Amino acid sequence: MNDTNPFSSTAHAFNELPLSPGMLATLQQLGYLTMTPIQAASLPVTLAGHDLIAQAKTGSGKTAAFALPLLTRLNPRRFAVQAMVLCPTRELADQVTQEIRRLARSADNIKILTLCGGATMRPQIASLEHGAHIVVGTPGRIMDHMERGTLNLEALNTLVLDEADRMLDMGFVDAIAFIARRCPPDRQTLLFSATYPEGIARLARQFQRNPKQVKLEEQHDAGKIRQRFYEVSNEDRLEAVGILLKHYRPVSTLAFCNTKQQCRSLLEVLHAQGIYALTLNGDMEQRERDQVLIQFANRSCSVLVATDVAARGLDIAQLEAVINVDVTPDPEVHVHRIGRTGRADQDGWAFSLCGPSDRHRIVSIAKMTGTVPEWHEISELQDEDESPLTPPMVTLQILGGRKEKIRPGDVLGALTGDAGFSREQIGKISVTDFSTYVAVVRSIADEAVRKLSAGKVKGKTVKVRAL
Ligand code: ADP
Ligand code: MG
Repeated sequence: MNDTNPFSSTAHAFNELPLSPGMLATLQQLGYLTMTPIQAASLPVTLAGHDLIAQAKTGSGKTAAFALPLLTRLNPRRFAVQAMVLCPTRELADQVTQEIRRLARSADNIKILTLCGGATMRPQIASLEHGAHIVVGTPGRIMDHMERGTLNLEALNTLVLDEADRMLDMGFVDAIAFIARRCPPDRQTLLFSATYPEGIARLARQFQRNPKQVKLEEQHDAGKIRQRFYEVSNEDRLEAVGILLKHYRPVSTLAFCNTKQQCRSLLEVLHAQGIYALTLNGDMEQRERDQVLIQFANRSCSVLVATDVAARGLDIAQLEAVINVDVTPDPEVHVHRIGRTGRADQDGWAFSLCGPSDRHRIVSIAKMTGTVPEWHEISELQDEDESPLTPPMVTLQILGGRKEKIRPGDVLGALTGDAGFSREQIGKISVTDFSTYVAVVRSIADEAVRKLSAGKVKGKTVKVRAL
């Protein structure tokens, strides 16, 4: 690790904390050698039982900052919900559940249940009847269960509001109030947020007792995120995105728009230019959303077009560029958006397209960050390279997933065994309930579909198609 890594600088070891030997061993196995800054600032407070308001950017390790105290306090022999985490979306709830599972693996049989909307109630009710120690879910669905009497919170000792700012944006304030009022009053309440809008303080005052506050200023290494501002007219704004992409040729780009309508318009323009772009929105079915996120994360989709709400919290590594198709009115959101690129030891580009009415927004961003914006002209961007922008990978969908007990190793085995491909030609493998997605390098995609369809995965013939 070097000094530009957000996880190093002033190293604090986890064994400075009152954690069990099993937990310390798990952290070691996961490669969590030192605490991230937000963990170092918040864990002594939360492990001592205080309420907390913690603010730090996406990717700073907030999940472990609340998972460790709630796991430490958990009694596995007591079959009752002892901790609950509220998240704004199902994706985030899934990510949090996974991270808690990883951290809980030294303890025996801790049951963690994800309760989100969009899934049928009945299996959730059945799982609750079987008993769960930890519940992670979205406020609407949790409230639903509480109203039906299917979720008993009498034994709750820790309540976490994760991505609190986003839950406020999404209008969950009443649901959160409903839930918090019905939790035991002597619980610990932990609030995590990437930004700190006024509403958070109000929320905290209502539900927390003398909370301690830790706030980590965003510190992007200026050398790692190269930021450029381009002046455009509103008519040229969407076309300019394609020009930027064809010039800089990033493999993965997150393009932020301020509205869903703008996302749709941009998607049309990019498709017309032959660029493989996808978008996320609230109207999509879960399977479609999974497919979008999987394709973007495994580098078989060049651009993900999203609003701040849709992109919130997604843990996407390896992002070469962020484009602010619209400049956000909130400078803090701007800093947060561009912090998605230039992570770990990679460099990243952040481009912002500014119309005449965005000027004052750039002024407030410059003021907040103490930087001088670097202005450029779109007309500087000549395309010497006219070849299309093609993602390096293609995603193959195999019908059959967790329900068929398929594991990533089965697919890797099928491709590198009989099919004869090399490990280097295979990318990320993601298993969902009913499908498995495997990224392969573009040049072998057709052949891989053919060979997988003709051969067997886990002893069975499977249906395969390229997305
Ligand atoms: P946030 O909630 O702040 O966006 P996450 O909790 O999702 O961040 O963590 C981001 C990534 O960092 C995850 O992949 C997580 O496994 C990893 N991580 C968390 N804490 C540590 C640590 N102490 N050392 C190394 N990696 C860590
Ligand atoms: Mg998080």
